[in-house]
Amino acid sequence: MRHTDIAIIGGGLAGSTAAAMLGRAGISAILIDPHQVYPFDFRCEKLDGFQAGILRKTGLLDDVLRATTRDVGGAWVARFGRMIDKRPSDQNGIFYDALVNTMRRLVPSCVDFIEAKATAVETSNDRQTITLSDGEKISARLIVLSNGLNIGLRHTLGIERDVISPCHSITVGFNLVPVGRDKFDFPAMSYFTENAAAQMAYITLFPIGEAMRANLIVYRNMDDPWLRRMRQTPEDALDEIMPNFRKLAGNFKVDDTIRIRPADLYVTRGHRQAGIVLIGDAFGTSCPGAGTGTGKVFMDVERLCSAYIPSWLASEGMDIDKISQFYDDPEKRENDARSLREAFDLRSMSTDTGLMWHARRWARFTARLCLGIFRTIRETVSPRRFASQ
Ligand SMILES: Cc1cc2nc3c(=O)[nH]c(=O)nc-3n(C[C@H](O)[C@H](O)[C@H](O)COP(=O)(O)OP(=O)(O)OC[C@H]3O[C@@H](n4cnc5c(N)ncnc54)[C@H](O)[C@@H]3O)c2cc1C
Repeated sequence: MRHTDIAIIGGGLAGSTAAAMLGRAGISAILIDPHQVYPFDFRCEKLDGFQAGILRKTGLLDDVLRATTRDVGGAWVARFGRMIDKRPSDQNGIFYDALVNTMRRLVPSCVDFIEAKATAVETSNDRQTITLSDGEKISARLIVLSNGLNIGLRHTLGIERDVISPCHSITVGFNLVPVGRDKFDFPAMSYFTENAAAQMAYITLFPIGEAMRANLIVYRNMDDPWLRRMRQTPEDALDEIMPNFRKLAGNFKVDDTIRIRPADLYVTRGHRQAGIVLIGDAFGTSCPGAGTGTGKVFMDVERLCSAYIPSWLASEGMDIDKISQFYDDPEKRENDARSLREAFDLRSMSTDTGLMWHARRWARFTARLCLGIFRTIRETVSPRRFASQ
């Protein structure tokens, strides 16, 4: 049996980031995942300033950013076919597999990678045992469970998942190609819903390498005929829900494979247990539209690996009181609560037809418009300062 202090089950973004942090801190750890190289997976495709801010605290930000494409020149904010604001650049585009594999390259060689599935776990106040798909057993002081949406292992421990919003949103991902010219007029753009009937939040366009990537967030059922039209005649389907989009995007076509993926919102129950801690999607999901999933992953990992694991290892045992310190961390709790709040707010803001939400939609539009006007005036008054940004 192999012995370690920390066994990380699942080497997606959360597990790989934890492995990189623990290895760099000289903590004995093992990372277990069935894939030596993380395969293509349609997930988060960019990091924004907020997420980068949390990642900075892990000490891994600069190496990750080198693998991304920056939205140099800023992002247009638009609605009703007109640009209403130009945000300073803070988006860094990267496909999810590239993001995870970049993170894995930052894991020091002192952290062993085991290419296998964890098939069973036994936990206690002292040491934990993991059985792998090849029959090998691992003994660890703590299990970090970062196996994403896979619920198998959690069930065996009595950890339950409460789905609080099934198919909360659907993300559609594709490349957008300009027709009749080399590139789009904008470096990046977020185009917000024109009306509640469109059942969408926004489309965000941002560069990854040479491509203009698009992530569209819609609120529909998976059997909605519009999704079929999106697969068959995507340009027409986009015109249908954003009639004025072409005023800014010009003539375009949808290239590459269209990826369509629903996201359920769930929270976890029964997770306060000795010897095991859940992070990332294994603990709870987020709405891709709110863009809080990666921030949740980085917050979980940063709090766990810098604030708690070193002190837990400094004394005997791994009881429930130690584990609860992580779940009660005020920054983590606030971040998780904000993620859920934003998921529901964005949905209501985009689709609700009640008077209050209608008013809030207009208030948000007006606020963005004012911000845009303010930024334009500021740039005109002190152009040199902005030219250097
Ligand atoms: C379509 C889509 C778009 C998104 N867009 C955004 C966005 O724009 N912004 C944002 O912030 N968030 C976004 N998210 C959310 C974000 O991508 C996730 O929160 C994040 O990827 C979760 O990472 P994770 O490491 O917890 O899980 P995962 O990346 O799923 O990792 C789980 C890992 O566990 C491994 N595993 C599973 N079972 C076992 C086992 N038994 N033994 C060993 N290993 C196992 C898997 O192989 C995998 O490597 C999006 C999500 C989706 C679905």
